[in-house]
Amino acid sequence: VKIVIKNGRVIDPATGTDAMLDVLIEDDRIRQLSAGIKVGEGSGVIDASGCLVLPGLIDMHVHFREPGREDVETIIGGSMVAARSGFTSVCTMANTTPPIDNQALVRFIKLEAEKGPISVFPIAAVTKGLQGEEISEMGELINAGAVAFSDDGRPISSSILMRRALEYSRMFDVPILSHAEDLELTDEGIMNEGFNSTLLGLKGIPGESEEIIISRDSLLARLSKGRLHVCHVSTGGSVGIIRNAKQAGIRVTCETAPHYFSLTDDAVADQLSMAKMKPPLRTETDRLAIIEGLKSGVIDVIATDHAPHSLNEKMQELEYAPFGIIGLETAVPLIITVLVKDNGFSYIEAFEKITINPARILKLPKGEIKAGAEADITIINPERKVLVDEEFLVSKCKNTPFMGRELYGSVEYTISNGNIVYTRK
Ligand SMILES: [Zn+2]
Ligand SMILES: [Zn+2]
Repeated sequence: VKIVIKNGRVIDPATGTDAMLDVLIEDDRIRQLSAGIKVGEGSGVIDASGCLVLPGLIDMHVHFREPGREDVETIIGGSMVAARSGFTSVCTMANTTPPIDNQALVRFIKLEAEKGPISVFPIAAVTKGLQGEEISEMGELINAGAVAFSDDGRPISSSILMRRALEYSRMFDVPILSHAEDLELTDEGIMNEGFNSTLLGLKGIPGESEEIIISRDSLLARLSKGRLHVCHVSTGGSVGIIRNAKQAGIRVTCETAPHYFSLTDDAVADQLSMAKMKPPLRTETDRLAIIEGLKSGVIDVIATDHAPHSLNEKMQELEYAPFGIIGLETAVPLIITVLVKDNGFSYIEAFEKITINPARILKLPKGEIKAGAEADITIINPERKVLVDEEFLVSKCKNTPFMGRELYGSVEYTISNGNIVYTRK
């Protein structure tokens, strides 16, 4: 099967390409990238006029809830949401029920994902049962297909265990993905500690809950020479700590999520539990520091931390509602609207965070548009607006603080492994 993508603006952050080029796909590979590719007989054509042609997007942090909570989301269902949202690769976190801490479960995810439209790369648990006590069999998990390790959903509270995990994972040259949180400092907190939590009379989570663990983990990465990747960075203080660690030559990378560069804790008053997440939405100063961190490259990756929760659970009183929001569907529109339009990011600066950078951190054979590469392509119209409503959100659970928002950036086509897996109607 041949497909020619005509008249698009190809953005490939891996090579710094930003040019009007056509792309020829043959079966599961990109065959040619050049101007004026002739459409042969029997070839399909996609007219990408006015659109960006990007490497298939990669989300290195999602929760698909299978096994255990298939009523909330499944591997196949989540993969379809991802395809609709422009993603051709996702990494699933290990905090399912049971957690992904053995070979059979890693294989289960890969097998299940094969029935879906995109590539799914499992992240396995750092500790058995996510109990924070005993390191999992990392070698076996890698052999089964795990691409990294994380106990995400909860921190690794023990310093000695984190040290050992970083040392052990070094043998496989894979990162430990850290959910940085000091649970004692978080205590019963449900939102950012500050002016708004005082105003609302709600228990706060100080930024230090995150920053203390990022500091500790950076020092343990220095000690162990392992690779640390910090999940969902939310404060300006965290950006500063990671900047210093990188300057000191420590092997640390990090990600933030679109909500941390789009919203502040002002949203909690209006959105209540729809704006309840961990780490919590912070202040405007933090939001601006996150944007600066992305601009300067201290923050390597944008990942959604897509975390579906059923409406029943989310509609409980704020104190009891679970932490987390969905993020796949709104990721591209928020990147285009907030980073490109409002903050002047180039397309390369914005999209390297969600293509080649996560691919390099996890050593995935993805994230580039070049002859011979796997045919994963996302086509986006940056000028077309989308309305975030019930229909736009295809997740089973619609827990988002962005409901009703009109944003720029519409995903027009998603091509995964040479197959058109999403077309905008
Ligand atoms: Zn987390
Ligand atoms: Zn997470």
